[in-house]
Amino acid sequence: MPCCQIESKKEKNRSNPQYLFPFGELAFVFSFSILGLMNDLQHFLWPDGKQFAVTFSYDDGQIQDEKLVGLLNQYGLKGTFHLNSGYLGTENFIKKENLASLYSGHEVACHSCHHPWMEKLPMEKVFSEFLEDRRELEDLTDSIVRGMSYPYGAYDSKSIEIIKKTGILYGRTVKSHEGFHLPDDWMEWHPTCHDKRLTENWIDRFFTLSRKLGPQLLYVWGHSFEFEQESQWGRFEKLLGSIAKQAESYWAATNLEIYRYTEAARNLEFSVNGKRLYNPSAHKVWLRVSEKIICIRSGEEMSL
Ligand SMILES: [Zn+2]
Repeated sequence: MPCCQIESKKEKNRSNPQYLFPFGELAFVFSFSILGLMNDLQHFLWPDGKQFAVTFSYDDGQIQDEKLVGLLNQYGLKGTFHLNSGYLGTENFIKKENLASLYSGHEVACHSCHHPWMEKLPMEKVFSEFLEDRRELEDLTDSIVRGMSYPYGAYDSKSIEIIKKTGILYGRTVKSHEGFHLPDDWMEWHPTCHDKRLTENWIDRFFTLSRKLGPQLLYVWGHSFEFEQESQWGRFEKLLGSIAKQAESYWAATNLEIYRYTEAARNLEFSVNGKRLYNPSAHKVWLRVSEKIICIRSGEEMSL
């Protein structure tokens, strides 16, 4: 039975501010020391000027997803469901004909057709496992599928390069970093934590982070069948309720929505003196400038 229960040691925890510039801290130092005039620019914010975003990511597509989707809907939260198209409709897995309606409002993403250990496969097979999974999920949901999570959490640089060639934009790992920052490399998108590790304290800590840190993301992953096996539904629902109490302060988004918005923010264009700003993306983007929250529309150019 497929599962992805390998969780590696936690990464070094960090809460780097999420600046506007596309090359991380180095570009931040360069921009602020050389250009000087951009001192007032601080960071981007999530839609509607929010500092916090919350997303969930669940693997394998077993029938317990039905209950999980119901809970997320009840609390106004959004998730991404990484599915193995080769198992859909078999015992304990979601039926193909139910896919589009069940996951409506959430994201369906790849998890390979047959949940293989990728390092044991020839590269041609890795390619077909993801391309065919993507094609089948797109056909079943009448949508464009661009995300994935790694079966068993296993991957290497070679498999990443092959998977990118299938049109995949991001890959979620199982390396929980226990922080709230965004990834530097979307193909190694490490989540905050497995749902087993999520506590009321974590939720409190998340919603009290300093606004100086910029946009923060609570990213929880897991498998819905584990709630059943370990009688954890009640505990998890209580945590969802605690998150939902803060609904005014966060953006509930799928993994792909987080990716697309962040990329739009990172790709804003600035004049050399930092006084003009252009948004070439299809998204409205919010940012904090001189303690004010501003919004730049798609295709808009403005003076700061
Ligand atoms: Zn899995």
